[in-house]
Amino acid sequence: MKHKGILIVVSGFSGAGKGTLMKKLVQEYDNYALSISATTRAPRAGEEDGREYFFITKEAFEQKIAENGLIEYARYCENYYGTPRDYVEKQLEAGRDVILEIEIQGALKIRKQFPTALLLFVMPPNVEELKHRLTGRGTETPEVIDRRLARAAEEAEGIEEYDYIVVNDDLETCVEQLHEIILAAHNTPFRNEEFIEKIRKELDVLVKGEK
Ligand code: ADP
Ligand code: 5GP
Repeated sequence: MKHKGILIVVSGFSGAGKGTLMKKLVQEYDNYALSISATTRAPRAGEEDGREYFFITKEAFEQKIAENGLIEYARYCENYYGTPRDYVEKQLEAGRDVILEIEIQGALKIRKQFPTALLLFVMPPNVEELKHRLTGRGTETPEVIDRRLARAAEEAEGIEEYDYIVVNDDLETCVEQLHEIILAAHNTPFRNEEFIEKIRKELDVLVKGEK
């Protein structure tokens, strides 16, 4: 049976390791397409326009919203972040699984528009380690880190909306777990309605034909 691509949403507290996990997942397996978001936040050292994000101005972002060029967008700690529509639609059509690494408000908007989307939440093994990773990344000021931890506390209230949580303790183990969950998700009946309908019709013809 040929699978259609599914939309996979990956959320998690800042510093939980989403970016690191997604990079590894797409390196190790062929069928994933990682969507690149647009944002108004400034690039971090080492980030490149068109690789981690499309870094754009607030005006350009608002223009994209007006043109219906984003399938979802949200504000997060004083910046806009959004998912460009074209790439997602083209990749899904080509049968690839498209990964959106986005925060919770965006995740819930995706669930409404794409009921078969799979929602995954990456958790740190504990909060000490989360703070350690966020500080260790060395890309944010202590004030920004505090804001992101406060935001994590808010996001923790919404985790029940997700289909699975995955704990990012050992990186490699977590990548394997994510991949296995995605493979299994392809095989749920509600993601295979067309195939099931086809078999039902064939059975019907067979049974009636043999009467
Ligand atoms: P996020 O995208 O969720 O904000 P990052 O991928 O930037 O998080 O990871 C935050 C920091 O934690 C980075 O410095 C990264 O190298 C580190 N990290 C990610 N996963 C692990 C892990 N499993 N074990 C140890 N450190 C990790
Ligand atoms: P960061 O600034 O650490 O790269 O990202 C901050 C938060 O914004 C993360 O939770 C990340 O998942 C989220 N994010 C990144 N891109 C998008 C997007 O296109 N839409 C939404 N809703 N959130 C995004």
